[in-house]
Amino acid sequence: MTSRTTLAAALGLLARGSGVLLIAFGLAGCVPDAKLKIPLNDIPAVLDDGWPVATPASQGLDAAKLKESYDLYKGMTQEIGKDFEYRVTGSLVTIETEEELEQRKKLVDFFEKQGLEIMLLNKGETLKLEPLVNPNILGSTFCPYEGEINPFKLVYYTLMRAGEYGTQIHLPVKIEGIDCQNGRIKGVFTNKGRLRTECIVNASGSGGEAIAKMVGLKIPLKMQKGQILVTEPIPPIITRQVHHLKKLKMPKGELPVPESTEIVQKANGNLFLGGTREDLPFYETKNTLQGIHTVARKAIHLIPSIKEVQIIRSFAGVRHIPVDSYPVLGESKRVKGFFNAILHAAVMMTPIVGQVISDLIIKGRSKLPIGEFSIERFQEEAV
Ligand SMILES: Cc1cc2nc3c(=O)[nH]c(=O)nc-3n(C[C@H](O)[C@H](O)[C@H](O)COP(=O)(O)OP(=O)(O)OC[C@H]3O[C@@H](n4cnc5c(N)ncnc54)[C@H](O)[C@@H]3O)c2cc1C
Repeated sequence: MTSRTTLAAALGLLARGSGVLLIAFGLAGCVPDAKLKIPLNDIPAVLDDGWPVATPASQGLDAAKLKESYDLYKGMTQEIGKDFEYRVTGSLVTIETEEELEQRKKLVDFFEKQGLEIMLLNKGETLKLEPLVNPNILGSTFCPYEGEINPFKLVYYTLMRAGEYGTQIHLPVKIEGIDCQNGRIKGVFTNKGRLRTECIVNASGSGGEAIAKMVGLKIPLKMQKGQILVTEPIPPIITRQVHHLKKLKMPKGELPVPESTEIVQKANGNLFLGGTREDLPFYETKNTLQGIHTVARKAIHLIPSIKEVQIIRSFAGVRHIPVDSYPVLGESKRVKGFFNAILHAAVMMTPIVGQVISDLIIKGRSKLPIGEFSIERFQEEAV
C-alpha cells in the first residue's frame, strides 16, 4: 500500500504543478460540506455477477475490494494522522425464512470463491454473538470486515491534510459552466471568476449529472432516499452491525433492496436505525411520518428490546445511483481531462476510488480494471 492513498492527498501532490480541479465536497472527493448527512452503516456489498447484497452501485468491483477498502482505511488513519473513528465491527445479517437461507448459502459460496470470508451461522451461534436479536430466526451470515467511519471527520481531516500538501480550496464557490474546447478541458467558470485547469474530477455525488452535462456528457442517476432514526445513548446492546435483508438477488440496474433494516450502536451509545429506500423523482431530504414509522417498526422487529428506547433525532439522505447501478469511474474518452468518481456506497469505496483516480491522473493507469465503469456507456454514439 502506498502512503498516499487518498484522492485529496494525491491532488495535494499535483496541486503544485498540474492544477487538477476537484468538484466537490463529499466523500468521493474527500472535501467537507456542511450539508453532508451520511448514516454510516449499510450493508456489506461488493459483489458482481448479480449478487449485490444491498449496494449494487458497487457491482463490478469484486468482493475482495471490500476487505481491501477497509485495509486502506487503516492506512488512511495513519496518513491523515487523525482519528476519523474508523472501527471494524463486523456485520451480521439475520435470516428469517428458508428462502433467505438458500440465498445466503449461495452468497457465502460466491464470496468464498472471491476469497472473502463470510460465515453462515445457525440460530444458536447468532444469538451467542448478539443475544438481543429477535430469536425468531433461522440464523445469520457474518462478515468480519464490515466497519464504520465518521464521514464528517474523514472529509474534514482529509481536506486539512490536502491543504498542507498545497491544495487550494475554493469555498464556497458556484460552478456555472465548464470551458471545454475541442474535446479538452480548459477551465471552469464560477461565480467568482474563471479557474484554469486541464483536469477536472467530477466527484459531486447527486450533482454529478449536472456537472457532466456542462461538458455535453450524460450520467443518468437514480435517487433513493434513506430515512434514519437516532436514539438516546443507551448501554451497549450490540457489538456488531445488525441487519436484515428481505431480498438479496438483484439484476443489474435494479435499485437496492426496498426492504432492509440496519442497526448500529455508536461508541457513545446512540443507536442509528435505518433505513428506508424510497425512489425519488428529484433530490429531497424530508423525513416523513410514514418513513419514521417504517424504520421504527422494522428496527423493533430486529431487536425487540429497543421498543422503549427514546428517539432523539431523525434525518434523511439521498443515495445517488447510476441507472445501471455500476460506478462511473475514470476519464472520459470524449472529453480529455474530465474524470468521474460517481457511485453509490462511497463510504465503503472511498479508499479504492481515491486510489483509482489518483493512479489514473498520476500514472495514467489504474491497477483496477475500470473499463465497464466508463462514462462512455451512457453516451448515444460509440466513440
Ligand atoms: C441512508 C443512506 C445510507 C447509506 N449507507 C451507506 C453505507 O452503509 N455504506 C456506504 O458505502 N454508503 C452508504 N451510503 C451511500 C453513501 O452515503 C454515498 O455513496 C456517499 O455519501 C457518496 O459520496 P459522494 O462524495 O459521491 O457524494 P456526496 O456525499 O453526496 O457529496 C457530493 C458533494 O458534492 C456537492 N455538490 C453537488 N453538486 C455540486 C456542484 N455543482 N458544485 C459544487 N458542489 C456540488 C454536494 O453538496 C456534496 O457535498 C448511504 C447513503 C444513504 C442516503
